[in-house]
Amino acid sequence: MNIILVGPPGSGKGTQGELIAKNNQFNAIITGEILRKERNSGSELGNKIKEIIDAGNLVPDEMINEIVTKHLQDLNLPEGFGILFDGYPRTVEQAEYLDTITTIDKVFFFQLKDEESIRRIKYRGSYSGRADDKDESVIKVRLENYKKDTEPVFEYYKNQGKLIEIDASKKIKEIYNQILSEINE
Ligand code: AMP
Repeated sequence: MNIILVGPPGSGKGTQGELIAKNNQFNAIITGEILRKERNSGSELGNKIKEIIDAGNLVPDEMINEIVTKHLQDLNLPEGFGILFDGYPRTVEQAEYLDTITTIDKVFFFQLKDEESIRRIKYRGSYSGRADDKDESVIKVRLENYKKDTEPVFEYYKNQGKLIEIDASKKIKEIYNQILSEINE
């Protein structure tokens, strides 16, 4: 089974992704993490990515699609393991592309109010070391991009009957249990 976690910054998809991958048979592909690794490597691609991420913008679809394709090709998943995509797809174009390279079963869409999203990211910024978590104007750009580019992904998967809405204001354990019961259904 292949699943997707998508939601605004600070909605807890990273936390849930970690819990799910640790306790179940999933291999996580976390695009934010892959990009941060590349960014810190000092490569030419990394420097290009740095500017985009630090400004709170999305890297181009072709770039992220290529990165995800490479990761999928390199994966040598044991029998019974599925893939958990965290932070991908973030645009309808990415979702359409993903459908051409693999099959998605369920999409968990995290919903959270803007104020709560901002509050959580600012708090995370105090310890995460992420430049894009510290500056309120960058956080706002990320939220704006989320609304413009990522929210339309909701309809895309709703139309496919794969969408499961998650109230991201709930407790971590409660959300985890909801996702687990959907996975084990
Ligand atoms: P995240 O850790 O998921 O919040 O991602 C951090 C940053 O990485 C985002 O603000 C984007 O700049 C970039 N990023 C991560 N995933 C994607 C994606 N699927 N498409 C474009 N940019 C992405």
